Amino acid sequence: MKRRNFIFDIFSIGLMSSLTTRLKAKTFNITPMVRSISTWKTTEANLKAGVMLDQGIDGLTAAVAGVAIEEENPKNTTVGFGGAPDRTGSVTLDACVMNHLGDCGSVVAVENIVNVAKLARDVMEKTPHVMLAGKGAEEFGVSEGYEKINLLTEASKNEWKKWLENEEYKPLINIENHDTIGMLCLDKDNNMSGACTTSGLAYKMKGRVGDSPIIGSGLFIDNKIGGAVATGLGEEVVKTVGSFLVVELMRQGMSPQEACENAVNRIVSSNSQKNKFQVAYIAMNKNGEVGSFSIEPGFTYMDYVNGKNEEIKTGSAL
Ligand code: ASP
Repeated sequence: MKRRNFIFDIFSIGLMSSLTTRLKAKTFNITPMVRSISTWKTTEANLKAGVMLDQGIDGLTAAVAGVAIEEENPKNTTVGFGGAPDRTGSVTLDACVMNHLGDCGSVVAVENIVNVAKLARDVMEKTPHVMLAGKGAEEFGVSEGYEKINLLTEASKNEWKKWLENEEYKPLINIENHDTIGMLCLDKDNNMSGACTTSGLAYKMKGRVGDSPIIGSGLFIDNKIGGAVATGLGEEVVKTVGSFLVVELMRQGMSPQEACENAVNRIVSSNSQKNKFQVAYIAMNKNGEVGSFSIEPGFTYMDYVNGKNEEIKTGSAL
């Protein structure tokens, strides 16, 4: 395969200083390749995106089409149609996208629309804004031709009714009850884009929003460096601006693996309840190198590269 070399000189400007300080010169030997990675065992979604990338389709289109498979899957109870409702019985969805130009779009607490990652893309491309919430996001979707449907399936309704019997509010995401899909796509032009979509914490308080639609927390891309996405307890990801942190650590010279480990360990070392919730990151740099790490064992992600789509087990802090 023909190799192209790009040299990126990374400069950082010290905030407390008027002097420009050169931190590090980072070199990426970029091999033209396509790769898509996505959180959890989202086999079909990642395959869809990977095949589109192989066909030469751009990373953002591939990522949005890939995650749509999980948004439309009623069996996935933490994304899209069939997602678990909040404690009042309403299914509210959060999503964001980011492209290689640094443009981003986000929707939060959206009801009655399934493909919220696509809706976030529309916010990015068709409005002067980055984020739309609740009814405003829904009305914008309807004006763009999105069908309104009830996202609460019979199965999710029954589970919610069972939960209501005790109404035990435990806002913790652990190994059994989370499943956000975050996806990163490196396309044939060596451009990276990503998408993140979720119904959030099951039986959350009405109005609760996690990390997934927050640019820098649930997803961050810097096309000179790479990208990262998060899954797990959003409150903990937001506190460390997790995905941005992973990308910044890669900018400082860490591999995607080292950056994910460092970002997870930062949460673990600062949290007294560290063994009670899950957070996981996946990351990819411009070379197409990938990494992943989680707090609790059991996290896996999908990796499509060289025409193969495989589930990869990751290491964990505990
Ligand atoms: N990160 C999502 C949230 O906090 C949930 C998840 O990944 O399962 O809303």
